[in-house]
Amino acid sequence: MERVQAEVETHYRSVIVEKIRARGHTVTVGGTTVRLARDFGFCYGVERAIDLAYAARKVFSDRRVYLLGEIIHNQEVNRQLTEMGVISVPISEHEETIATLTNEDVVIVPAFGAETRLMKLISERGCMVVDTTCGDVMSVWKRVRQYAKTGFTSIIHGKASHEETRATSSRAMGDDGMGNYLVVLTLADVDYVCDYIRTGGDREAFLQRFPTSARSVGFDPDLHLTRVGVANQTTMLKSETEEVQRRLQQAVLDRHGPEEGVKNFQVFDTICGATQERQDSLFGLLRQPLDVLLVVGGYNSSNTTHLVEIGEQQLPTFFIRTAECLKSLEQIVHFDLHLKAEKESYSSKLAGEGAVTIGITAGASCPNNLIEDTVLRVFGLRGIDEAAVRAELN
Ligand code: SF4
Repeated sequence: MERVQAEVETHYRSVIVEKIRARGHTVTVGGTTVRLARDFGFCYGVERAIDLAYAARKVFSDRRVYLLGEIIHNQEVNRQLTEMGVISVPISEHEETIATLTNEDVVIVPAFGAETRLMKLISERGCMVVDTTCGDVMSVWKRVRQYAKTGFTSIIHGKASHEETRATSSRAMGDDGMGNYLVVLTLADVDYVCDYIRTGGDREAFLQRFPTSARSVGFDPDLHLTRVGVANQTTMLKSETEEVQRRLQQAVLDRHGPEEGVKNFQVFDTICGATQERQDSLFGLLRQPLDVLLVVGGYNSSNTTHLVEIGEQQLPTFFIRTAECLKSLEQIVHFDLHLKAEKESYSSKLAGEGAVTIGITAGASCPNNLIEDTVLRVFGLRGIDEAAVRAELN
């Protein structure tokens, strides 16, 4: 593991980022200031997953090594693993690929975990499993299993198609497969469910609203919304998850009355520490004057998306994949959360002779070398070369 960690460091470490951190997360050269959030980038779960994936490739150098989907939601990291010969299997091809594996093959389970159904199939093929599931994700599994055991339906705040939520949903069925779950994403979803909890409603309309991927097989809102336990995807926006919990609790109390209500409702906040730290750090960064915020990370990364949502409420915020998205001082390619697409925008915020302060943060799946590229790109576009930045940091 020591050798592996050294290799991972050479791929993803950044001396420049470490120096900026050590100087109070800020560097100013000329009229350009870059402020980093206190906490950003790789979390402990991601670091462990990458280390284990690298180690698997090294230890099983003579075997085929497969990865279920992506190790984390970052293109650069996944590309690196592919270059090392790890075969990434897209979600849509999981079952047919697993069916071809033998006991000579190795399967890496990503940090998000995998559905119980897939784990069973892999075990039936006799493959060697390198399970990098984050401990914080496993805590959520423990909680929803407990709900199932005690006859509570899990209401999971998350994205039904996200790997982690799929894995969690499969555990919410319980060890005997008899448990139930419902996945809610928006507050509108939650209000709809709350209305049904309070007064019932049109069963068919309910089932139409929540696709089969968002509910357990046989889910019946007339039967399965009586006793509910709330959990969430580990990377959700904390304030929103708290609101989801509050609204559902109130609906159950309204339905059953205060005494019975408490017996029919359970909640467990399963947002992980790393997600919370990154959100809190961004709030801290936003308390300082900034002209623009850049959020660096994979467009399909849940925790990164929520950082963008927080930033957008206060100032011009651009969700960029890599430094190359900064085409010029005015032209930025970025992901628009509302359009759910990458687009090109023009902003005058970085241009001009006057002083500019740029905030930068990144989600838990973004390596420091990509942050360094972004910092240097910003300075470069402002006419300040890498040597000048390094000189300032020395
Ligand atoms: S974001 Fe949280 S749950 Fe996901 S890998 Fe990191 S620590 Fe684990």
